[in-house]
Amino acid sequence: MVVSLLRLLPWQDGVLREALGRLTSSAVLVHGQPGSGQLELALAVAKAWLCESPASVAASGAVPACGHCPACHLVDTGYHPDLKVLVPEAMQASLGWDFGADEADADKGEAKKRKPSQEIKVDAIRQAVTFCQSTVSRDRAKVVLIHPADRMNTVSANTLLKTLEEPPGRVRFLLSCGSIDDILPTVRSRCQAWHLPLPEGGAVLDWLCTAHPGLSASDARVLLAAAGGSPQGAAELLRLGWTAAAWQRLPKDVAGGVAGAWAGWPLPLLVDALQKLCHDLARANAGGTARFFPAEAVPADTSLPRLTAWAAELRQARRHADHPWNAGLKVESLLFQARRAVQPAPPVLGGKRA
Ligand SMILES: [Zn+2]
Repeated sequence: MVVSLLRLLPWQDGVLREALGRLTSSAVLVHGQPGSGQLELALAVAKAWLCESPASVAASGAVPACGHCPACHLVDTGYHPDLKVLVPEAMQASLGWDFGADEADADKGEAKKRKPSQEIKVDAIRQAVTFCQSTVSRDRAKVVLIHPADRMNTVSANTLLKTLEEPPGRVRFLLSCGSIDDILPTVRSRCQAWHLPLPEGGAVLDWLCTAHPGLSASDARVLLAAAGGSPQGAAELLRLGWTAAAWQRLPKDVAGGVAGAWAGWPLPLLVDALQKLCHDLARANAGGTARFFPAEAVPADTSLPRLTAWAAELRQARRHADHPWNAGLKVESLLFQARRAVQPAPPVLGGKRA
């Protein structure tokens, strides 16, 4: 697989040094909120373990890679013979990585026609196990990086277990994921877990504004909240053309039955946005603080029974969000459900709302 260089996020230098100093197991699981740079950190750890600089060799890979030795260059270009990176096909495409060249599909024509898989398949794991059994090419280590590790199905995970528990020779595993709870206990128990902390907001806002000239800090803050605090989630929203204004207007649009700019968002993302609105409305209804939307955009006088029913409808919609619906009709249906749910609760006897 040819990978393009993924750089550490600006706030990860200190995290990398700390991780390298603490990671002692031959199998490591990096976990944290999705979209907080797990893959970037895991690749930097792999690079440190493979770096051939005298300082790195002396420290047994416990210091960051030098960045300019032949091994570092091979990692950067995706051709290091002792590094195997496994990510789902669908993610390879979104990363701009060349996928399919090392697939085990017998029929490459069929492989091209089908939809890229969201899973890390057992064929890829079998290739990784074979990779582990071959000798080290460059005398440092052999590294298998699996991201996100929760995309291994049960068969894939079971195929990996024995090698993960007793890695041959100088084989090391780096698994990364969002929630550690999504990893099978049998895999989790064989790894040293490393929690990737979320960076402080200021560093993320600077990063977003630098990458998007013209983006104000206040708009960046709105989009960061929209992404649940996930830096890469906010960057993805910007890449998709989402604006802070459209996000802030969404609750009002929904209440007024207006299909705003958000109606053109891909269906899975639209359902996700409505689920966030439903979540915030329920919190506001209970006297809590909205998490994803600005507090002033979220009314508190909604009906909890209606919100509960809407949440169930959205869960149902989420299960089928990738289905090739007539998108226009589906958006209309989602808008109808949403509008009904966000209306103020009807007054009942005694003056209280339902
Ligand atoms: Zn190096």
